Amino acid sequence: MSHRNVTDMANPQQELETSKQLLEAILDNLVDGILTFDEKGVIQLVNRAGVYIFGYEGDELIGQNIRILIPSLANDASQKELKELLKQVSGLGDELEGQRKDGRIFPMYFAVSEVNLDHQKVYTAIIQDFTERKFMEAQVWEKERLNIELEKERGLRDVKNSFISMMSHDLKTPLAAIRLASSMLRNYGDRSSAEEKEETYDTIDQQVEHLTELINDVMIISRQDFTGAELDREIIDLETYCRDIIEELQLAYRMKRTLNFNGTDRRIEALIDVKMMRRALTNLLTNAIKYSPEGAPVNMELAYADCQAIIKISDHGIGIPQEDLPRLFEPFSRASNVGGIPGTGLGLAIAKQAMDLHGGSITVASELGKGTTFTIILPAEDC
Ligand code: ATP
Ligand code: MG
Repeated sequence: MSHRNVTDMANPQQELETSKQLLEAILDNLVDGILTFDEKGVIQLVNRAGVYIFGYEGDELIGQNIRILIPSLANDASQKELKELLKQVSGLGDELEGQRKDGRIFPMYFAVSEVNLDHQKVYTAIIQDFTERKFMEAQVWEKERLNIELEKERGLRDVKNSFISMMSHDLKTPLAAIRLASSMLRNYGDRSSAEEKEETYDTIDQQVEHLTELINDVMIISRQDFTGAELDREIIDLETYCRDIIEELQLAYRMKRTLNFNGTDRRIEALIDVKMMRRALTNLLTNAIKYSPEGAPVNMELAYADCQAIIKISDHGIGIPQEDLPRLFEPFSRASNVGGIPGTGLGLAIAKQAMDLHGGSITVASELGKGTTFTIILPAEDC
């Protein structure tokens, strides 16, 4: 860029004219709209971009009131709104609605600065048309929204897929056992002893029970509308209740595992759905058994603190990797170190749901290779 030395200029009138032209050229080549107006809002000057942004031509805007460009000022007879607006947009400016000549409304950035010229206030406004920017913003938002939807959809599909593969696996095993038992009865029934037959019937019963349980689990998990009102609650003595569950399991595992119980002297009662709670506690105990080596004992402890019953179930088993802990209570979630130990990953989700419905909580603490402790807290009765 070049400039002339002021002293070179002979004629001040010419000099003024030249700098006016220069200023106009600069203003006209700006991409931002510039317009000046007086205290009443009457437009005195507007650059080419300003005229273009509002959809006018030539000098059409000169002498008009800026009210025709800003719909919020349309009924501004008292000038009060103009003053308020000037306050709002002075300095850093603000986003406003603009109105084009054809009536279309568009988003714009509008910043005003005030100058005093010959005891008169003159306002200079800088205007940017935000239509494109808004459009781009909307596109970015839309893209983001679609991505989230897609992600959700993918998540759902993953859950569905793992659900189907888990379910088909888990359903197939007992079904195969039932089929085997029934074909044994059909083909060898008349040659089998009464005892053998009884055993085969038992197998069928057990597998049917297992299947029923599995289907019940899935139904519980898929019932999002469970409110707790459906619970069949009664007040029970927790120690007797826990001891019964342990005894039952000890029988099921044919006494091969040592299941210890530690109670307290205090009688602790709770209002619970006996069946649902049994399902939760049994899963915690069978987990402790199946995820620890055969000789290792499993402990159940019942305690009381601040109107709450605390049940801890701990083992000295394989533990749970830290990175698997956050999703452990989600349906079908299984830790990476389960190896060949069978499971569906529904037990803990059901336990969690049971605790939520009882106004309680369940948490886990685990050390890989050392063992795991699940802690249940339930509101105690009568306190
Ligand atoms: P099921 O639906 O038959 O109970 P599961 O036992 O695999 O199957 P959950 O009881 O929900 O499912 O447990 C989820 C996962 O948490 C398990 O697969 C296992 O990885 C981990 N886990 C739970 N309890 C223990 C434990 N005591 N020790 C180590 N890992 C455990
Ligand atoms: Mg389990």
